[in-house]
Amino acid sequence: MEKGKTGVIILAGGHGRRMHSRVQKQYMLLAGRPLILHTLEAFENSPVDEIVLVVGSGEEAYVRKEILTGSRISKLSAVVAGGRERYHSVYEGLKAMHDCAYVLIHDGARPLVTEPMIRRAIQGAVENQACVVGMPVKDTIKVADAQGYAVATPDRSHLWQIQTPQAFAYRLVREAYDRMMADPSRQVGITDDAMVVENGSDVKVRLIEGSYENLKVTTPEDLILAEALLQARRQKRTKMTNSD
Ligand code: C5P
Repeated sequence: MEKGKTGVIILAGGHGRRMHSRVQKQYMLLAGRPLILHTLEAFENSPVDEIVLVVGSGEEAYVRKEILTGSRISKLSAVVAGGRERYHSVYEGLKAMHDCAYVLIHDGARPLVTEPMIRRAIQGAVENQACVVGMPVKDTIKVADAQGYAVATPDRSHLWQIQTPQAFAYRLVREAYDRMMADPSRQVGITDDAMVVENGSDVKVRLIEGSYENLKVTTPEDLILAEALLQARRQKRTKMTNSD
């Protein structure tokens, strides 16, 4: 399929306060290596052509020296400073991207993203202009009032928990972001990129299958889970190599 270049913006500009650690979560060690390197390598070993990494303002030199030195991320074209909210960081990434027809936006804090998932996201963007990976929710979800009482129970069969990558035709997401950034009233309550496109265009965002393993490392127990999942993947690979 003729599709043009695909870039990814990897977001590592958050503060990760829920981790209660002095080292920011994206630089914490996961299976012996900084968490963000696992994420970068997943995209390096994928059909993506260009990687833009967004880090906290003032952390660019630290990341280049302490995290990237010695790593082989040949597709990395820029390390740029992010902003106050996630959407500010995404916008800096969008502006730094070179001439890509499609762009994936991915939370650096999701190191368990896989190559098949990245391929599905790219295909989803090529076919639908806008898609996000996610999974049907497993738990019942309730809407609570301000006092902590349940007020509604949405039908679970229609609910998805949304992950990243979120993948778009570059021009579509760039124009939607340009519009939102120019108008602060459009910025209220924005938590993902699909919302920006839903609010700023007529294009319908396609939901495609991610994985329950694609967790966002947010709290200390997520690190334990991520280590266990990586270990299980390693064991599976070793078993397959031995049985060849
Ligand atoms: O905190 P949250 O769940 O929104 O973070 C999702 C991702 O966005 C994380 O990888 C985080 O580093 C990134 N982020 C960012 N700039 C911000 C806030 C979050 O790059 N201002």
